[in-house]
Amino acid sequence: MTTRKEVKRDGGVADSRGRAGKKPSFDISIFRSWCKDCGICAEFCKKNVFDQDVLGSPLITRPDDCNGCQECVLHCPDFAIQVARRPAKPEKG
Ligand code: SF4
Ligand code: SF4
Repeated sequence: MTTRKEVKRDGGVADSRGRAGKKPSFDISIFRSWCKDCGICAEFCKKNVFDQDVLGSPLITRPDDCNGCQECVLHCPDFAIQVARRPAKPEKG
C-alpha cells in the first residue's frame, strides 16, 4: 500500500493523515570571491541563520534553522549566495 504525502506550506511533508514528516534541510553556499561583505543577507534572514565577523562577512552559523525562503538569495546584490534543498535520503525498505 502506498502512503499519500503532501508538501506543507513550510516545506515539510505530511502524510495522508496530516502527520508532520521530517523537516527539509538546505545547503547554503556563499561564493567568497563575489561577496562584498555588505551584510544584506544577514539582515533579511528571518531565521537568524547568519552571524557576521568583525569585517561584516557573513558566517553561516545556524544552517539547520534555514527554511529555504530564498530571501537572502533574492536580495544579495552580487549573486553570491545560493540555497538549495538537500536531497532526502532514500527510505529504507
Ligand atoms: S533561505 Fe531564508 S532562512 Fe535560509 S538563510 Fe536565506 S534568508 Fe535565511
Ligand atoms: S548579501 Fe551577498 S554580497 Fe552581501 S554579505 Fe551577503 S552574500 Fe555577501
